[in-house]
Amino acid sequence: MIVGVLKETAEHERRVALTPEVTDQLIKQGLNVWVEKDAGLASNFLDQHYKDSGAKVVSGRNEILTQTDILLTIQTPSNEELKKLKKGTILICFLWALQHPELVEELKELEISSLGMDAIPRISRAQNMDALSSMSSIAGYKSALIAANELDKYLPMMMTAAGTIPPSKALVLGAGVAGLQAIATCKRLGSVVEAFDIRPEVKEQVESLGAKFVEVELGEEDTQTEGGYAKELDKSKQDLQREAIHKHAKKSDIIITTALIPGRPAPLLITEQMVKDMAPGSVIVDIAAENGGNCELTEAGKTVIKHDVKIVGPVNLPSRLSHHASKLYSKNMYALLNLLIKEGKADFDFEDEILLKTTITHQGKTISPMLK
Ligand code: NAD
Repeated sequence: MIVGVLKETAEHERRVALTPEVTDQLIKQGLNVWVEKDAGLASNFLDQHYKDSGAKVVSGRNEILTQTDILLTIQTPSNEELKKLKKGTILICFLWALQHPELVEELKELEISSLGMDAIPRISRAQNMDALSSMSSIAGYKSALIAANELDKYLPMMMTAAGTIPPSKALVLGAGVAGLQAIATCKRLGSVVEAFDIRPEVKEQVESLGAKFVEVELGEEDTQTEGGYAKELDKSKQDLQREAIHKHAKKSDIIITTALIPGRPAPLLITEQMVKDMAPGSVIVDIAAENGGNCELTEAGKTVIKHDVKIVGPVNLPSRLSHHASKLYSKNMYALLNLLIKEGKADFDFEDEILLKTTITHQGKTISPMLK
């Protein structure tokens, strides 16, 4: 079987789907790996590294598209490129199938077997394949560094001959994967950190990182689904939450927002009035920007100054740490391939919850229950 890896072409995309280390492991298992020339260059994996691991480095993109059995990418290839794939090719990448029904139709029509790295269920057995968590953790880490860079203050307490500077105060909203990493990074940099999430059970995790959990009485059954995921709050609960955030926002030098409700636009947590009431020079880093933003004034992909507050709406943060993001994504991909490939052949065993939920299309049909 030939596994193909393309050079990513999307703007600002610096990651590569497979690293030389994982290429080596796949080749040892009897697969052939073809990598497009310079595919890893932007994340500092050179063609020579791939050659050393036994891969064939190919200069023609078409050769990969038309001949591979399994195509690995980060972003979904374009429509024209999908049309070049053989029937039955297995495509593994971020697909965001719920948001792109037309893509799902196209994949069905072309009889491409597609697996969405964004559709891997967040269950214990799939932890080593969970690319969303790997990437969110990077985004959380990077968001704290951005905040530190944009703030015109020290983060840690500084005792100098000219006097003592108190530590900066950071508020992290949403304490899921990205939020917890943002908290940990702000703490490491010396900030005093507070955090809030509507799921009360994350309080312990927040506190174990040395941050203070902001308590708001929301009532557990109204904030999460049976599966433990966050739920959209009703109007009165939203008001309660905003009131609490408002109080804490006024005292914060940095706010990092990471709140997400699966399948919904980002919840609005920071209103214009709250921004007005923050101290001049404060910084908001809204990593939910691509998803609509947790702050009313966020502009995705831009840094804007509103009411003397800097609001950063970064997109594709994992790409800014492309070497390690590629490493983690590639390992996630390897774990998924190990589940799918049995004795050199793909085995779409839909009794397996991970394969069932991750497979978007197979043999001209929609498979994942999330699409039904
Ligand atoms: P997650 O599901 O692990 O965490 C989201 C958290 O938000 C959950 O703990 C949830 O309880 C909480 N939440 C939901 N509604 C809330 C509310 N009203 N108030 C407070 N908390 C609330 O998600 P994640 O993987 O950590 O991702 C977080 C965000 O980061 C998402 O919007 C995701 O799209 C974004 N992200 C951005 C980038 C980027 O490059 N900018 C990269 C990766 C992830």
